[in-house]
Amino acid sequence: MPQVGSRAHSGSRDPPIVGPLRPTRPDPVSIVSDDALVRVGVSACFMHPEDRPVFKGKRLVYLEESMVHWVASAGAIPWMVPTLPEDGSITADDLAAGLDGLLLHGGSDVCPRTYGEEPLRPEWEGDAFRDRYEIELLQAFLAAGKPILGICRGIQVLNVALGGTLWQDLPTQVDGPIRHRDHESYDLNFHPVDIRPGTALGSLYGATGEASVRVTVNSVHHQAIRDLADGLVVEATSPEDGLVEAVRLDDPGQWVLGVQWHPEFNRPTDHEVLDRRPLMALFLQACHRSR
Ligand code: MN
Repeated sequence: MPQVGSRAHSGSRDPPIVGPLRPTRPDPVSIVSDDALVRVGVSACFMHPEDRPVFKGKRLVYLEESMVHWVASAGAIPWMVPTLPEDGSITADDLAAGLDGLLLHGGSDVCPRTYGEEPLRPEWEGDAFRDRYEIELLQAFLAAGKPILGICRGIQVLNVALGGTLWQDLPTQVDGPIRHRDHESYDLNFHPVDIRPGTALGSLYGATGEASVRVTVNSVHHQAIRDLADGLVVEATSPEDGLVEAVRLDDPGQWVLGVQWHPEFNRPTDHEVLDRRPLMALFLQACHRSR
């Protein structure tokens, strides 16, 4: 019986034996053939231990179903990206190598401390735990050259990770004629967005001339971009209050895009609202190219 970590005989052609607690992992690239479905890593939402006393303080990691279905309905496989174990057995770089792209989805506010501010009110504290988790993922996928799509909170995390800031509370800091969140109508709250020409979204949604194209989107957000991070380009704004509603990374070598609206809430049968399907198709094409 050979000892763990040693070879049975010197000169043996057997592969090195590794300990049972560190099984060899297949090369992530080798298990995804060219014709396999694209694998989209979806960043998780959290229900933290302090919110789950009945469950003895265990953290719950979950995804929103509408987001998972948007990915799946486009023919790709959504994979929940969990938090990483502290023993370092798998890293964010491993995840970026093994997945074809990253989708950052909506949820709790970004903690103002993540971008160097104190929360103006205790209820605007946000989720600093999730900020750290998502920024680590984002940096790993950027380093790996993999596509990133940020939705709602996702565009905010993208901006903050690259050095930008946010409005902590739109109703008190940027009061305007457009309602960006409505508790009653929730996912059926809509407002217009102007998609700029000469942008990725412009090419996708018909702003191909000199003028912006005005569309309608689902809007459920409490915060928004304040100072745009270096390296990001504005793709769309909300008319009248001028809020940034979409950005892309100004790097032709890497596909990174964020939108402040919720395409996953759009029903493809609703012809009054911007069709969510072209955006997912564009993201998945970039994911496929990045393999
Ligand atoms: Mn909005």
